[in-house]
Amino acid sequence: MTSVTGPPEQMVAVREDLTPMMSQYLALCEQYEESLVLFQVGDFYEAFCDAAEAVARICEITLTKREDSTGTYAMSGIPIDNAASYVERLLDAGYRVAIADQVEDAEEASGLVDRAVTQIITPGTIVDDELLSAGTTNYVASVARDGDTFSLAAVDVSTGECLVTSAKLDRVVEELERVAPAELLFGPDVDASEFDLDTVAGDAMVTDFDADAFGHDAARETLSGYVPSPEAVVANDAELSACGGLLAYAEYTQGGDRLDYVSRVTRYDPRESLRLDSTALRSLELFETRGASSGHALVDVLDETSCALGRRELTGWLRRPLVDRERIEARHDAVAEFAEHALVREAVRELLTDVYDVERLIARVSRGRANARDLRSLKTTLDVVPEVKSELADVECAKLRDLHGTLDELADVRDLIDRAIATDPPIEITEGGVVREGFDDELDDLRATEREGREWVADLEASEKERTGIDSLDVGHNQVHGYYIEVTNPNLDKVPDDYQRRQTLKNSERFYTPELKQREDEIFGAAERADKLEYELFTEVRSTIAAESERVQALAAALAELDVLATLAAVAVDNDYVRPEFHEEGERGIDIDGGRHPVVERTQSNFVPNDTRLGGDDGSIAIITGPNMSGKSTYMRQVALVVVLAQMGSFVPADSAHLPLVDRVFTRVGASDDIAGGQSTFMREMAELTDILHGATEDSLVLLDEVGRGTSTADGQAIARATTEFVDDEVGAYTLFATHYHELTAVADERDGVFNLHFTATRTGDDVTFLHRVERGASSSSYGVEVARMAGVPERVVTRSQELVDADGADVSDSPSAGEYRSNGRREPTQTTLTNGAGAVETETGESTSSTDSTNSTTERDDALAAVASELDAVDIAQTTPLEALTRLNDLKRLLEEDDGR
Ligand code: ADP
Ligand code: MG
Repeated sequence: MTSVTGPPEQMVAVREDLTPMMSQYLALCEQYEESLVLFQVGDFYEAFCDAAEAVARICEITLTKREDSTGTYAMSGIPIDNAASYVERLLDAGYRVAIADQVEDAEEASGLVDRAVTQIITPGTIVDDELLSAGTTNYVASVARDGDTFSLAAVDVSTGECLVTSAKLDRVVEELERVAPAELLFGPDVDASEFDLDTVAGDAMVTDFDADAFGHDAARETLSGYVPSPEAVVANDAELSACGGLLAYAEYTQGGDRLDYVSRVTRYDPRESLRLDSTALRSLELFETRGASSGHALVDVLDETSCALGRRELTGWLRRPLVDRERIEARHDAVAEFAEHALVREAVRELLTDVYDVERLIARVSRGRANARDLRSLKTTLDVVPEVKSELADVECAKLRDLHGTLDELADVRDLIDRAIATDPPIEITEGGVVREGFDDELDDLRATEREGREWVADLEASEKERTGIDSLDVGHNQVHGYYIEVTNPNLDKVPDDYQRRQTLKNSERFYTPELKQREDEIFGAAERADKLEYELFTEVRSTIAAESERVQALAAALAELDVLATLAAVAVDNDYVRPEFHEEGERGIDIDGGRHPVVERTQSNFVPNDTRLGGDDGSIAIITGPNMSGKSTYMRQVALVVVLAQMGSFVPADSAHLPLVDRVFTRVGASDDIAGGQSTFMREMAELTDILHGATEDSLVLLDEVGRGTSTADGQAIARATTEFVDDEVGAYTLFATHYHELTAVADERDGVFNLHFTATRTGDDVTFLHRVERGASSSSYGVEVARMAGVPERVVTRSQELVDADGADVSDSPSAGEYRSNGRREPTQTTLTNGAGAVETETGESTSSTDSTNSTTERDDALAAVASELDAVDIAQTTPLEALTRLNDLKRLLEEDDGR
């Protein structure tokens, strides 16, 4: 409760004296104290007092006032006709909005019109299409617990999809991250502080709801409204509680009634999917790109879907890649078939572009909110089904045959809509024009009476002109007086006896005749009865269709799946993807030929494909070295993306891929690489490392990108080495470890499970060219010195640096052998070249300095100082965390110490 929501103090103070309407408003504010009440007064939703000020400010509308004997109240009104856009702003501003509608006809009410809250709009319970984005899910979720068992339930009130699952805390947190609810409820036994809400729920609104609704009996009762036997669906009391509490909340927001269109509560086991925690979702950029880079996410590459149903489904598949080989391969079979049969695929995709979001549409039908246009849209969708079926007549794989079989043409529904609903109906369903002629005899008779009457009136002017001889005679109609015959003053003497005076104007008189009056009554009587009858017929048709909502939902699911499969095939064909193969039981290894990064290859011309072999003779752990910008991070992510794509059912960007079924993908991106993500603390890095070391199995894929960077070099190196050893000894996961600690490459010599890969660059004169090509062995140079030279570091420093590097010697001992790792010959390798250009720093004296100069004329101490100076010069303080600063300082100190020979 804030001063904006809850009962306004100003009204509470004069409670006893308030006008009936204002006391109605006050009562609703008290009853819905967590919400901003919008109170219907005629064509507006009004808010008063502090709420009025907030609405005026947020919606940028005028603040007015209402005065009565009890005081002056601030007031602002939102026009009902386009309330959606204003409500959206109020939601964005963090409010829940309670819509208090007039629930009886103002004309029929005796005294004060009755009002009631018909809907509470919160971020997680939006049903209005205008407030939702197309092809997305919008969940409200709840978490409940029973001892150690945590349960998550989620419902999308716009489609009726309801999910429930349970597991230990960490697993439920992960599921919560995948569901990404817009709103979150905690059951009474859950301690919300155990959830890191920033990561888990992002900007989800956390809502307090009636704790009793989560209790066993209440929850059971609510749930039995949806499933015949709750115990047959939920696995434990935590699930019962989460589900029951959540559905009670959903009902509460939708006016209190059972939600008919929530026809299925689906329980799933989190173990059915490849585990991806929020760190992995983010660092692999499946849905969103990180930081400022305005690139694409993986979903953008895949989303060539034809309809909103498919888009929603595709997102679901990507969020939950599978682990069951049979289910994955069934998808691959279907994608393969569509990939091969371009004509069928493209025909289906084209047909699906006419498909509406019937999941949301049928939910509106069930709620009694669909209009005649919605029903016509459903018909348009159903029209497509027979054609899709016939395109699929000859499909072979089991999945497509299945889908072909499931596609229900719903001919009864389609015919009903076609017979009953006008082809181009108005949005309003109370003003006639929505029911088609020929559907109902009584309606047709009424419309005929109306039509004949109007024709008679239309002919009246001519016949009366003739009868009376008044050429200027005019037959007209207005809202207040109805039909009239108008005669100008000069002609009044010619008016016949049966004309009766209706209205006197300045220059004319208006008359009616008994016959005209009778016709008029007939016309309007018929029209009014017809409009009413149409509304009744329409709602009957809508209810008939609502009763078929499960069939429509099943059809929607089949169309969605078809869209995704055809889309994945189209993406595979357009981008040269290949069908991945899974190993037989007992075989191991990630084996990719010519793998590419699906997103980078789209933006980077001449992407260089690279091979991957993990878990074969070389070992399962690859230490990857190479200069900055050489392609290490891209390479590691591309391996993970190939795995994710394969397990969601897609083909993969490679020449060939032989893969294991991975149980979990872990990613750890070192602190300095993750500044944009705002998570650059060493503590966090270590917490994630802990998760990995505890959670990974030999079937997991682990990406470690520059781990250990957030601390001093000595610590970082030690941690990196110990981690590698631990993974090798205890975990055996498929691991890619990119590191700037060159020392780590020595581990490969000591252990069979560990091997080195490196990225190369070539030097031509003053230029360094990155080949983006992975090769076996450790890199011979990090090219840091070359890069320093390119950036304009004084020659003296560069030379000294090179000397130090050479003296160290470690770099040359493990130079690469010509590898079986090859870059794919189909494409020209990219060459990113650093050229010596702007930004070069000249030496202070402006003289050119050569290496001989430097050794002859300066002491080593000076060299070290210069190195320190240049290091300092390169530091971007704005981009440096305190920890990094300490690390740098430590490095700088070491530079001097080494020089002193200490
Ligand atoms: P690193 O992690 O080694 O610093 P990145 O993987 O971030 O390097 O790659 C740096 C840039 O190089 C990428 O943004 C991309 O534009 C380009 N790049 C990476 N890999 C390739 C490749 N295989 N082919 C072409 N360009 C690539
Ligand atoms: Mg990197």
